[in-house]
Amino acid sequence: MMTQGIQTVSYIASSILFILSLGSLSNQESAKRGNIFGIIGMIIAIFATVFGESTEGHTILLIMMAIASVIGIGIAKKVEMTSMPQLVAILHSFVGLAAVLVGFGSYMDEKNQLISGAAHTIHLIEVYLGIFIGALTFTGSIVAWGKLQGTIKSNPLIFPFRHTLNILMVVISIGMMIGYLDSHPSAGLNTLIYMTIISSVLGVLLVMAIGGADMPVVVSMLNSYSGWAAASAGFMLSNDLLIVTGALVGSSGAILSYIMCKAMNRSFLSVIFGGIGNSSSSIQSAAITGELKPVTIEETCDLLKEARKIVIVPGYGMATAKAQHAICEFVKKMKDQGKEVTFAIHPVAGRLPGHMNVLLAEANISYDIVHEMDEVNPHLPETDIVLVIGANDIVNPSALEDAGSPIYGMPVIEAWKAKTVIVSKRSTGAGYAGIENPLFFKENTRMLYGDAKKSVDALVHAI
Ligand code: NDP
Repeated sequence: MMTQGIQTVSYIASSILFILSLGSLSNQESAKRGNIFGIIGMIIAIFATVFGESTEGHTILLIMMAIASVIGIGIAKKVEMTSMPQLVAILHSFVGLAAVLVGFGSYMDEKNQLISGAAHTIHLIEVYLGIFIGALTFTGSIVAWGKLQGTIKSNPLIFPFRHTLNILMVVISIGMMIGYLDSHPSAGLNTLIYMTIISSVLGVLLVMAIGGADMPVVVSMLNSYSGWAAASAGFMLSNDLLIVTGALVGSSGAILSYIMCKAMNRSFLSVIFGGIGNSSSSIQSAAITGELKPVTIEETCDLLKEARKIVIVPGYGMATAKAQHAICEFVKKMKDQGKEVTFAIHPVAGRLPGHMNVLLAEANISYDIVHEMDEVNPHLPETDIVLVIGANDIVNPSALEDAGSPIYGMPVIEAWKAKTVIVSKRSTGAGYAGIENPLFFKENTRMLYGDAKKSVDALVHAI
């Protein structure tokens, strides 16, 4: 059994490792090291908690951990990179559910009911807030999972007075807390149950109101909420490490949400409260003119032969097609022929922040040819070919040109400014936001139909 002193030292070591892990994850080259720091930190944290002086019921704990590890390893081995966002969303929901269960457990624990005075009030507030954030995170994350999985329609659920209804639910929850602080434990338990129901409904409504292209912010926001839910569980369990870890996740998730909002030119509040800017039915999307011009592999090779400067824009379709390794081969061939090839990465490309960067790193594509959208956009007019691989919303000119478009205002990769655009996708199907893309109809665009991996493989053989 570990003494209190050793447990405290272990917790400090874990906290430092978590901070180092977050720091390293901010850079692609040090990200692997960051993961290792995080894994070691978590092993120390689990070990110090399970074998700490105050922990009881080791047998049941170890059995539950063994079962959970088997399930976790099984899922991690099986999950496709394209399903990672759904997995992350569902894992956030578990943190929320855990906070709710810890809250009820802590409230009903007879030891805690013996506390008196200010300490008792503080404990009651911790429980109330913990359950409120936990329930909201739980149901919100399940809806986010459904939207990412495609089980729930990704269009925003907008109805009149929804802001009033949401605010009313928050006000009622705060009002109920005042009565709960003075009530007898059995009456308090009822209040907690009613508040859990209200908070769960609020979680559903908040995420249901958020539209397709705003989903990246929701994922990072729920990540932040799950951190605060974990921190509140840490307060209830008097576990310092859980408070520190929860606060780290909560604040880094909040910073990520802010960065994503800035990247998408959305106001943070309008995304949180959902659908602001999408609710106007009086604005109509502009009609698309022009025609689709299909291109064959041979014709694409001819265009590539002439090109000197090529920019590749990967999107979600590259992930589903698992085309990254074929693209790596393609880049090598192009470079051998003396061409300048770079990648342009949109901040919300794919279905997870950093999704494209991870896939390109997996295929060993050198970091120094992978650039952010802002670095690439000014150079597109001097680019000979932009090769769009399985991307759609992130290259949609409506975001800049069509005030009636749901993605209006979002910065995009301005592929159409290049001399020629070649779009590799299977059909004229829409992307995540479910809207048409005028880029495909532009004079200088050619459509290379087919699965992205098959098309790029064919290009590698033909050039
Ligand atoms: P999109 O979802 O807009 O478009 C992907 C395109 O890939 C589709 O139009 C599809 O067309 C094509 N595609 C699918 N499978 C294949 C395949 N096997 N081979 C070739 N093409 C394929 O992706 P983008 O990356 O352009 O944009 C990301 C979208 O996801 C944005 O709307 C963003 O807001 C949203 N989002 C992003 C998150 C993030 O954190 N990054 C999280 C949640 C949502 P077709 O069917 O014709 O092949």
